[in-house]
Amino acid sequence: MTRPAFGGNLMATIKCPEHRPQMSTVRPGVMPKATPDFNRKGEIVPFQPKFDASKFVVKLVKTVKAQKTAVDIADAKILVSGGRGVGCKEGFDMLQGLASVLGGEVSSSRAMVDAGVMPHDRQVGQTGKTVRPAVYFALGISGAIQHLAGMEESETIIAVNKDKFAPIFSVADLGIVCDLNKVVPLLTERLKKELAK
Ligand SMILES: Cc1cc2nc3c(=O)[nH]c(=O)nc-3n(C[C@H](O)[C@H](O)[C@H](O)COP(=O)(O)OP(=O)(O)OC[C@H]3O[C@@H](n4cnc5c(N)ncnc54)[C@H](O)[C@@H]3O)c2cc1C
Repeated sequence: MTRPAFGGNLMATIKCPEHRPQMSTVRPGVMPKATPDFNRKGEIVPFQPKFDASKFVVKLVKTVKAQKTAVDIADAKILVSGGRGVGCKEGFDMLQGLASVLGGEVSSSRAMVDAGVMPHDRQVGQTGKTVRPAVYFALGISGAIQHLAGMEESETIIAVNKDKFAPIFSVADLGIVCDLNKVVPLLTERLKKELAK
């Protein structure tokens, strides 16, 4: 198995030659969904686990469902993602304007989640969600390895950053070296006009 180690700075290969069976998990969105093949048949083996409830040290007190307010970013076809370069809540309102014109969703780097500007369910990356939309806008995001881990499989990546050496440009299909506060309003207006035609 291959998994990130040391904060995602290297990929570790884990070998387990001794014990069987083995189990590993993958995060949602890491691989494209396979088309179901209904001709395949699996063998169903009924299994009755023997639990002794008196030995449980953990008790389920209550189940509270998280309130779903918007589309899961992992399902979005277009993501307008902002980083520290966006800076504040008002900056993300501007990104929401672009996302609304395109029928997309707003997501974020961890920097803005840690700053309390965006909720964790909008975070893309190693400790957030893995996404692969048709279009991923990376606005004011430097492109740290932990962020790239969650979005580099996107079909088309469009990056706006005022630093031409930002690592995000190494994975971008289209890069604009500019202040996002100039680019995003112009892009939003232009797309509004084009899509209204
Ligand atoms: C164990 C671990 C797990 C992590 N998991 C994640 C994760 O899941 N997701 C994640 O995102 N990060 C994660 N990180 C954090 C990651 O290392 C980076 O710190 C983070 O991604 C940086 O966010 P950022 O790109 O928004 O900010 P910065 O790295 O600060 O980049 C901001 C960028 O904005 C540009 N900029 C500034 N102003 C403007 C402007 N006006 N116009 C255009 N560009 C501008 C700057 O040039 C800069 O490139 C993790 C770190 C660790 C150690």
